[in-house]
Amino acid sequence: EPQTLSILGLGAMGTALAAALLDRGDPVTVWNRSPGRGDGLVERGAHRAGTIDEAVGGSEVIVTCLLRYASVRETLDPLAEALRGRTLIDLTTTTPDEARELGTWAAKHGIDFLNGAILATPPMIGAPGAQLFVSGPAAVHERTRAVLEVWAEIVYDGAEPGAASLVDLAMLAAMYQMFAGLLHGAAMAASVGMRATDFAARAVPFVAAMVPHFAGDAEIIDGGDYTVPGQQSLHFSDLSDIIRASDGAGANSSTLRAVQALIAEQVTLGHGDEGMARIYESLRREEDRR
Ligand code: NDP
Repeated sequence: EPQTLSILGLGAMGTALAAALLDRGDPVTVWNRSPGRGDGLVERGAHRAGTIDEAVGGSEVIVTCLLRYASVRETLDPLAEALRGRTLIDLTTTTPDEARELGTWAAKHGIDFLNGAILATPPMIGAPGAQLFVSGPAAVHERTRAVLEVWAEIVYDGAEPGAASLVDLAMLAAMYQMFAGLLHGAAMAASVGMRATDFAARAVPFVAAMVPHFAGDAEIIDGGDYTVPGQQSLHFSDLSDIIRASDGAGANSSTLRAVQALIAEQVTLGHGDEGMARIYESLRREEDRR
């Protein structure tokens, strides 16, 4: 027996989520704070709730896809009693602490809660490549898995509600720092007259070939022994020449200096003969460091 589902928030993402259900011929109830959104969905068969109370009261599963955490609380706080005994899935981008707070709030009101983080753009919803990280009680995950799989590949990050948000933001942290590195390289290359497009044509295949080596570093980290042979040593990875070149090119070397400071810290601690994986010890939380 499929569960009835309401989507609160018909922005670009909420609209894509509803459309994917309609594509399969599944029923969906939709609600948006401001009028004028969702007409296309209603034309295609979505049920528009006249009020938010109707949207919440009429479905077993309530999905929120709003702007940010504050809008979720503003929208749901008055509806806590109406949500009791139902399932709430929040797909709004929130911080891990906010997701935990929402989980605590839901538990207090007898609401089954699952936190989700979408790793896809609206056009990717329902297509291969879209991922949705979820965290919250395993029973809620099992019960909602089938409907969520309509939208994306589901990756369950465990019972702690903040986990899905944390992994999502950790991946974005990696991505932004990687792009900052590519932009810095382009800024250096500009000093010899290279256009960014020419730098990209040469840097992208190189970086793409290097990225998979991260899996080897990860194995060293989890193996607990940074001295495994075959690694390029931190002495060799000293970035002084690169920083001098960047400074000489008039580029902003701040991101590079930040990496160099991490390398220098581990060299100072006596780990210069170990490889780049060792930097992990300077990055992770202090009480876990080796
Ligand atoms: P949009 O800006 O397109 O839509 C925002 C939605 O939030 C609208 O429905 C808006 O309603 C509603 N809203 C904002 N503030 C409030 C409030 N105080 N009370 C009630 N409703 C409110 O955003 P998206 O649909 O693109 O994104 C929604 C969520 O999905 C965000 O958290 C975003 O980070 C996440 N996400 C989006 C991705 C994307 O590529 N778009 C990718 C991954 C995640 P109204 O019409 O009344 O203003």
